Amino acid sequence: MHWLEKYLLPPSCQLCGATARDDELCPACASEARVVVSACPLCALPNDDSSVCASCSLTPPAWQQAYSCLVYDGSVQTLIQNWKYQRRHSAARLLCETLSGWLTLQAITTEATAIIPIPLHPKKLRARGFNTAYALARAVSSTLKLPILEKALVRNLFTPAQAGLDKNARQKNLVGAFSILPENLHGHQRILLIDDVYTTGATLSHCTRLLQEAGVKQVTILTLARALPPDVF
Ligand SMILES: [Zn+2]
Ligand SMILES: [Zn+2]
Repeated sequence: MHWLEKYLLPPSCQLCGATARDDELCPACASEARVVVSACPLCALPNDDSSVCASCSLTPPAWQQAYSCLVYDGSVQTLIQNWKYQRRHSAARLLCETLSGWLTLQAITTEATAIIPIPLHPKKLRARGFNTAYALARAVSSTLKLPILEKALVRNLFTPAQAGLDKNARQKNLVGAFSILPENLHGHQRILLIDDVYTTGATLSHCTRLLQEAGVKQVTILTLARALPPDVF
């Protein structure tokens, strides 16, 4: 949006164009966004009582704790796609503010002493110009007052998109995709690992294991949005 339009046009919802307060969401689009208030502490799957879900009881994830702010569907999915693929600054601002506000409202505390965003492949970073996980990490860094370790986890090879691959193919796809540069951990042993969307958790699991192999004792996952498995509504 041209800066002048902001003053000349009435404020409208950034998703449907209905009247809304200053480039936010209209009440209808906002009510479609599902905010997570209670979830499995290990995989961030929303539930009513914050209990560990059946799947995590059976096979606990590699990390120690997981949080997610929103459910990845409806208006949230559209906003995230608008940010990632159309570079909509208004969506970026709204989503980063939502994550910061959620951390404060939910009184999320963490024992982590530093933040690591999941890196984007350099080719993708060049094409897109920004990494959503890094932008989210900056918002979290200022809210939780934790430093970001920028070069501790790096991406190596070009890995094909994970979408459409089954679980085994996803895992295979990840071998060699990331490396840890231990000297850039600067001795931090409790890490908050941040990504935009938690889909299957394969990338997050892989990176958690690499961090643990490098001596990290505690990994907490924080994602902006959690995709629900097909059998959960
Ligand atoms: Zn709307
Ligand atoms: Zn779970």
